[in-house]
Amino acid sequence: MKVVFHPRFYEVYSHDPAAASGRMEPMVKALKEVFEFVEPEPAPERDLERVHGREHIRSVQSNPILYEVALLAAGGAILAAETALEGQPAFGLIRPPGHHASPHSCWGFCYFNNLAVALRRLLSSRKIKSALILDFDLHYGDGTANTFEGSAEVSYFHPVGTNRDACLKDIQRCLKTRAGYDMIALSAGFDRHEEDWGGLLKTEDYYSIGEWAKEYSLQHCQGRRFGVLEGGYNHTVLGQNVKRFLQGLTD
Ligand SMILES: [Zn+2]
Repeated sequence: MKVVFHPRFYEVYSHDPAAASGRMEPMVKALKEVFEFVEPEPAPERDLERVHGREHIRSVQSNPILYEVALLAAGGAILAAETALEGQPAFGLIRPPGHHASPHSCWGFCYFNNLAVALRRLLSSRKIKSALILDFDLHYGDGTANTFEGSAEVSYFHPVGTNRDACLKDIQRCLKTRAGYDMIALSAGFDRHEEDWGGLLKTEDYYSIGEWAKEYSLQHCQGRRFGVLEGGYNHTVLGQNVKRFLQGLTD
């Protein structure tokens, strides 16, 4: 497992909970004990253009600090995806998050759709033919769903379920029924945790989700699996939640 991280993700690039001061530090601390860290390069603009319109890119560019950090986040997703392609699971410990970023608009603390940028790059260079996205954030990733709407190559799934059991069963059902993809990509949001906004999942559930995704990848995608950070706002529990998820994805 390689964790993709850049010190600029510590920067408070915006006034929103994803950009809050002190959010990344506990995750870095928890993961540094266990996993190898690598640094990404900024995403090339041509990779952004595979997902986003020029007007949208320009609107993010109007805030230079935000733009630089957002390019590194997209670059982090690219490096995680390419590491997975080479046979090693990887995780982009990145911000800003991306799943509410659509081709021509964004909201919800997101600017560029990191996961979509990474997958489009692999798809357009024919390194993969298809991908399954499992987004277990509390919130529906409308940006990702919009990006791949009608796509025969990429399937997007977000579990419903108003209680813990139903949510986990929904994820298992997805992984049992959607076969035939080259890669599994995880939009990993931790805001559904019992001590976060969603108040639903336990820390050990993230280990299970990671493990199920690993098993899916070994069965269907030659082990190709990676994730990127989306939401998760309780700094006290984020470190453990991300760590257990990655241990499940690795073990
Ligand atoms: Zn969320």
